[in-house]
Amino acid sequence: MMVLMSVDATQQQIDDVIQLIKQHNLKPLHLPGDEHVAIGIASAIPPELREPLTLALQALPGVDHVVQISRPYKLASREFWRTDTVVQIGEVKIGGNAPCVIMAGPCSVESREQIFTTAQAVKAAGAKILRGGAYKPRTSPYSFQGLGLEGLKLLKEVSDQLGILTVSEVMSPEDVEKVAEHVDILQIGARNMQNYALLVAVGRSGRPTLLKRGIAATIDEFLLAAEYLLHHGTKDVILCERGIHPLDRTYTRYTLDLNAVPVIKHLSHLPVIVDPSHGTGAARYVPAMARAAIAAGADGLLIEVHPDPKAALSDGAQSLTPEQFSALMKELERVAMAVGRCL
Ligand code: PEP
Ligand code: MN
Repeated sequence: MMVLMSVDATQQQIDDVIQLIKQHNLKPLHLPGDEHVAIGIASAIPPELREPLTLALQALPGVDHVVQISRPYKLASREFWRTDTVVQIGEVKIGGNAPCVIMAGPCSVESREQIFTTAQAVKAAGAKILRGGAYKPRTSPYSFQGLGLEGLKLLKEVSDQLGILTVSEVMSPEDVEKVAEHVDILQIGARNMQNYALLVAVGRSGRPTLLKRGIAATIDEFLLAAEYLLHHGTKDVILCERGIHPLDRTYTRYTLDLNAVPVIKHLSHLPVIVDPSHGTGAARYVPAMARAAIAAGADGLLIEVHPDPKAALSDGAQSLTPEQFSALMKELERVAMAVGRCL
């Protein structure tokens, strides 16, 4: 439920609404907007309370109207917040009418040389955000697990030197602070989308967060995971479609669910980006799905780029070379223009 105050509502009238919500042991959320103040109720309202509470709120002076939210997620819902959320980090904006933002870089940070070479190349091609995993969720404990803190330090160094924003995955609640000290955006990986302890810890950090869709997650489960982040204190949530469990693994690693882009745009105000690298698992198919994602309305892309994909310690098969990435960026610019966006 959300209470929209009239344009000329006084502070006292706003306080009275908050007080009434609190009296029912519910959590009010004060949401100052450009014109109206809105007050959301972020807790579940018992069914028997719904009607009397709506009537009581509507009767209070200064209340314009009360909106019911039918979705299981509230803060993430477009019913709750009609205008697109635009996540702004430094000069870069993601969502709304902002240019599509390209995040690119290696799956894993492997060495100083590797991350610097890649960062320079993707930045020159127009990427605004450098990606690179320092903590890697690997299927086998014998696979490369990431450089950990050393990888984070390299990301910080490259970010400071080249003036490029960074995103990197955090896998456990204990690491949230450490990762947040070194990068601009915290990534929650597909395997951890329903790791509630991690969602709470990342939410509490209040830091911009890139939340990847779980491999077998429905769109409602995805938005409920985003709800955890919003509920615990992060306003800046970027959703990332990265492919779901496939029917056919012969040619692609996952099935990139591009339906999710318009569906989530309809259901939620949060920005949505697409990861065609994990979505296909094959460099050969990344450009086509990257173009399709922009055409479908994605607010950005996450693309894996490695200076020598054959030698990559993780996800080499889906990584583009810097040359392929740069050629793709030129195509994406044209696709974006064709659908009324830009890069
Ligand atoms: C990644 O971004 O490298 C990654 C591990 O992604 P996902 O969680 O989508 O598999
Ligand atoms: Mn990867």
